[in-house]
Amino acid sequence: MSDRYDTLVVGAGYAGSVMAERLASEAGHRVLVIDRRDHIAGNAHDYYDEHGVLCHKYGPHIFHTNSEKVVEYLSRFTEWRPYEHRVLARVDGRLVPMPINRTTVNELYGLGLETEEDMERFLESRAEAVEYIRTSEDVVVAKVGRELYEKFFRGYTRKQWQRDPSELHSSVCARIPIRTNVDDRYFTDSFQKIPVDGYTAMFERILESPSSGTSPDRSRTATRRSPWSSRARRATRTTPFRTTRPGRSTGATRRWPRSCRTSRSSAGSPATST
Ligand SMILES: Cc1cc2nc3c(=O)[nH]c(=O)nc-3n(C[C@H](O)[C@H](O)[C@H](O)COP(=O)(O)OP(=O)(O)OC[C@H]3O[C@@H](n4cnc5c(N)ncnc54)[C@H](O)[C@@H]3O)c2cc1C
Repeated sequence: MSDRYDTLVVGAGYAGSVMAERLASEAGHRVLVIDRRDHIAGNAHDYYDEHGVLCHKYGPHIFHTNSEKVVEYLSRFTEWRPYEHRVLARVDGRLVPMPINRTTVNELYGLGLETEEDMERFLESRAEAVEYIRTSEDVVVAKVGRELYEKFFRGYTRKQWQRDPSELHSSVCARIPIRTNVDDRYFTDSFQKIPVDGYTAMFERILESPSSGTSPDRSRTATRRSPWSSRARRATRTTPFRTTRPGRSTGATRRWPRSCRTSRSSAGSPATST
């Protein structure tokens, strides 16, 4: 096969991999995907450790969306394991739901707030007037007051972002909900699951998948399997990665070209991102 490509995609995360698959399947492009990391799947990358445990390299990833179209698309490459994330924070010696909901406040303050209106009134009584909302500290203090900000947001944000909320744009903490009901799930999207074989396996299928459609265009594309991986086999600078479970290995080791070795990015985001 020739080394000529129609498209070069830089980055094998969701954006790059899906774009590559779409260009190959729908437009018949030969696509070369490169990544400076030695693996695919970007920040969603996972791998089996020596004990056979599937680890999320850059922090836990729960797939969540309200888009049926997105679910339908990705379900072509994976089956799903049901999973809803629930987080407890240890505050003042108690384990309470995070994000803050009515249960959190009732347990923390020994209250018996029964309705959403009760909770709204409680939060209003704690909220502080902030003239200009610029930072993440401003946005939280204006919603729930300084005490809940200090207990729930400040330390957590400093740990996850290595920055004080007063140094972060308001949008960072504005994404963390404050609930007036008792829903203790971290996400509320209609679809919340994890790929049954993991994210890396799903991305392998996205990148290797010939189109499964039946239109003439699609079947033409389907005969040109994985142009990126055939290029990768000949790449001189390659780094192998494994996605198979130790002991159940099929010996499948894939090699991907690296584009450059300038710098390796690290995830500077929350362990569980919103
Ligand atoms: C800790 C953490 C937890 C998260 N949790 C969740 C979650 O639970 N649920 C959820 O839906 N989302 C979560 N996210 C967000 C999710 O990871 C991102 O939305 C998703 O990975 C974005 O995909 P992407 O392709 O845009 O970028 P990335 O996944 O970052 O992929 C980009 C790729 O491009 C490569 N690249 C960049 N520049 C170059 C270059 N110049 N040359 C070569 N390669 C390059 C990078 O190495 C990387 O592999 C989380 C993110 C983090 C960091």
